[in-house]
Amino acid sequence: MAKRKYIFVTGGVMSGVGKGVATASIGKILQSRGHKITAVKIDPYVNVDAGTMNPTEHGEVFVLDDGGECDQDLGNYERFLDRNFSRLNSLTTGSVYLSVINKERALKYKGRCVEVVPHIPLQVIEDLNAAADHDKADIVLVEIGGTVGEYQNILFLETIRFLKLAHPDDVITILVSYLPMRNRDNELKTKPTQYAVRTLNSTGIQPDMILARAPLPLDNKRREKIALNCNLSIEDVISAPEVDDVYEIPIQLDKAGVADRLSKKLGLTKRKRDMKEWTRFVGKIKRLKKEVRIGIVGKYFGTGDFILSDSYLSVIESVKYASYALGVKPKIDWVDAGKWKTLNQYDGIIVPGGFGSRDIEGKIRAIRYAREKKVPFLGLCYGMQLATIEFARNVAGLRGANSTEIDKKTRYPVIDVIPDQKEKLEKAKYGGTMRLGAYPAVLGRETIAANAYGKRKISERHRHRYEVNPEYIKKLESKGLVFSGKSPDGILMEIAELPKKKHPFFLGTQFHPELKSRPMSPHPLFLAFIKAALK
Ligand code: GLN
Repeated sequence: MAKRKYIFVTGGVMSGVGKGVATASIGKILQSRGHKITAVKIDPYVNVDAGTMNPTEHGEVFVLDDGGECDQDLGNYERFLDRNFSRLNSLTTGSVYLSVINKERALKYKGRCVEVVPHIPLQVIEDLNAAADHDKADIVLVEIGGTVGEYQNILFLETIRFLKLAHPDDVITILVSYLPMRNRDNELKTKPTQYAVRTLNSTGIQPDMILARAPLPLDNKRREKIALNCNLSIEDVISAPEVDDVYEIPIQLDKAGVADRLSKKLGLTKRKRDMKEWTRFVGKIKRLKKEVRIGIVGKYFGTGDFILSDSYLSVIESVKYASYALGVKPKIDWVDAGKWKTLNQYDGIIVPGGFGSRDIEGKIRAIRYAREKKVPFLGLCYGMQLATIEFARNVAGLRGANSTEIDKKTRYPVIDVIPDQKEKLEKAKYGGTMRLGAYPAVLGRETIAANAYGKRKISERHRHRYEVNPEYIKKLESKGLVFSGKSPDGILMEIAELPKKKHPFFLGTQFHPELKSRPMSPHPLFLAFIKAALK
């Protein structure tokens, strides 16, 4: 195997400038040249994983096949690179410290004094190599969360310095920066980027390349200015202006010469690139005219639009891929759970996953609307559980039916805690203990689900503690609800649907199909849902 190379992506000036997509895009263009890439996200927070965080804090919790609960950027990496990653691809301050402390307790440091420096950076290096070994990667892309200059990520920057010292020719640091624009004269301002580089320099790191995110393309004058003040050659100051769709970014960076520059710096063997499929995909998106209108009934609205869309990122992307494949452009709206009356403007309604009791009755009302008005409906995890509750209450006559997550004393607990989850909740063992990751399911013959998948054995990713209460399955089935997907032992209900003659498309999944949609291979259930919405 060739010598392992490391590319670190750091952020400057402000957060939210698209570091995750930039990292995924760099991965894409290197992958398109035949390199084996792995991508690791390092988050500076102390939570051991993202599973214990509210999505309004850090965006959606992305779940991997192995059950790792990660930052949403892992979703970007999987979608752009069309790969399944493992929990090794996600590190946090908490996970790294935990490893070090566990080793110390096991006397693995052989009586030495264990110190933040060097032991934390050394642990990070060990973890990065473990991810690379697992993926047999020759290039490790590492995105460091937060921005340079924060105390929180200083030990991760120290990791770069350590690695560079040991392998000067194999380590690259990229700074993704932002150039604000003064509207009066459309001038992009370079000073904040210069400060960010100074800050990075003060940690002993010189960036090898700057990706200048900005509302407009960067002119040569400003590129020269940044190059001169930040010790770079002008070719390494990359103009990365706003684009209509994030999927254009790999093409943008490739055209700007990023892959060529990186290959040269790292001494990678020169290979021809193949971006044909991706370019075709992006070209197609740009030409779409006809719209499909999808309402997502959610609750993580609190903090402004961008947080909201981050909370449901994979759902949005899944809607996009399915729509693109069917030659339409999705127009996605956020519907406040209380405002179900506005639902008549949508071709399809999605009720995504969630936790707790807030806005539940509004969501159930929205599901009832979709069922009675025969609007295509897709329920994801909590959405499936709530659809089961709605059906129990309004079709099966179980008035007051509920989930014990919402009402412990409900007369009809049609959704109840999974038996082995009960103890975990009682002992407050919350972190990493849900039913997580990929589990197989078997689909019923001649069902909407089986038709959509075109097969009867599937594997999907999960994240839940509650399930359809086995005691109510017979009753619900006798009233017409079809459990078209079940765990192989037949105990856990994985998909609930209404038969085609009753409703054009009414289907809920206990799992999260949105976690497995990819740009070129939209998820079959999203595809079937959008198809129904177009009718
Ligand atoms: N709150 C529900 C459960 O724990 C659904 C979880 C989800 O939507 N991810 O089972």
